[in-house]
Amino acid sequence: MKNKLRTLTEPFRIKMVEPLKITTEEFRVSTLKNAGYNPFLLRSSDVFIDLLTDSGTGAMSDKQWAGIMIGDESYAGARSWEHLEAVVKELTGMKYILPTHQGRAAERILYGILGGPDKIFISNTHFDTTRANIEFTGATAIDIIYDEAKDPEVDLPFKGNIDLGKLKSLITKHGKENIAAVIITVTNNSSGGQPVSMQNVKELRKICDEHQLLLVIDGCRIAENAYFIKHREEAYKDKSYEDIAKEMLRLGDAFIMSAKKDGMVNIGGLLTMKDEALSLKCKNQLIISEGFTTYGGLAGRDMEALAIGLTEVFDADYLHYRIRSTAYLGENLRAKGIPVVWPIGGHAVYIDAKKLYSHIPVEEFPGQVLACDLYVKGGIRCCEVGSVMFGKYDENNKLIAAENELVRLAIPRRVYTQSHIDYVLDVFDDILELKEQTKGFHITYEPPFLRHFTARFEKN
Ligand SMILES: *Cc1c(COP(=O)(O)O)cnc(C)c1O
Repeated sequence: MKNKLRTLTEPFRIKMVEPLKITTEEFRVSTLKNAGYNPFLLRSSDVFIDLLTDSGTGAMSDKQWAGIMIGDESYAGARSWEHLEAVVKELTGMKYILPTHQGRAAERILYGILGGPDKIFISNTHFDTTRANIEFTGATAIDIIYDEAKDPEVDLPFKGNIDLGKLKSLITKHGKENIAAVIITVTNNSSGGQPVSMQNVKELRKICDEHQLLLVIDGCRIAENAYFIKHREEAYKDKSYEDIAKEMLRLGDAFIMSAKKDGMVNIGGLLTMKDEALSLKCKNQLIISEGFTTYGGLAGRDMEALAIGLTEVFDADYLHYRIRSTAYLGENLRAKGIPVVWPIGGHAVYIDAKKLYSHIPVEEFPGQVLACDLYVKGGIRCCEVGSVMFGKYDENNKLIAAENELVRLAIPRRVYTQSHIDYVLDVFDDILELKEQTKGFHITYEPPFLRHFTARFEKN
């Protein structure tokens, strides 16, 4: 067995099951038609494998469920808060810890205080809720990854890195006093879940020190990022995942986390920082909108489960399984000839639908077509990340297409087994077989904002 690739096995066994409905293709054809060919409008009970998002969709462990039972629901100074605070202080090295109900609540509080008209935020890539919370204050959000990392096929180890050269020019151009913060998102969700190197964050820290800029780490996938550092950055090959995450978090001035990702819970968020004066302003906002400082928007049981989840996520066997199972799907799709964004990131596989359905023009939404075909052929739900999500119209009502027409298969944590993933791979054989016959869509209804959630389509 030495040189043979072993089957990737799940480092857990199943103690509780959630039955899934197996449906017929005929059922799925009519269900999808009723949902206006928009997978967001499907009922989850009509979906077999749900790869819509990895956010809040993970499975908790027996220890986390046990933690739920001993959660302390006291309004102030609860035991579960003390547990969570201790774990997060140890992880981040930061003194001020605020619990929130989701990542975006932490963003609204921090960026609401730092932002405002004429302010500038700079990031590798702002996640959409990050950008929305910044722009809502009247500030501007600028994304800067390296140009070569924008090529979906180029094989680079850290395509999530922030472009330090562009950062320096932006500081010169706008003046450091107008830059509210630099935000490093690890892994870089909106650019394919690609990792950020420790080297990059260390150099970023130096630049922020030179210009007295606030460095925020948006680290909801900090453990997944640590996996890539250990395996791709020579200096870290003997360090533990937890120590790598601790080292990176100590380079930041503040940390924001959607606990629905590497927190391994279904709801929750965190906002932490080093500066006392800033923390007092944030606590005021927290009390107004989320809750008292020792629970934020969370129940005591939520905080207990999160404290345990933040420890479990660094387990070496878990992280290996997590990253390798995402890569297993991506590598096998690529081997079948499905064009995927390369290399495979931490939490999702992205398929280039424009390339796969080269006969469907972007005006007919090839990504939406693929997402729908996957539901019809296999009951798989996933999400278009292309012109349905980001497309705009010019004054002649002509589509200004998104940069890419992608489909995202996001992998929930500890939910599906390798046989589920093998099933997904099998469904792609049908997709390849039928791809010449598949047809484009036109939109029959669209709301003025965030149309991908509620738009309806018809077949051409
Ligand atoms: C999910 C996410 C957020 C927002 O968190 P929510 O818990 O969904 O509010 C912010 N930043 C990144 C990078 C994310 O992936």
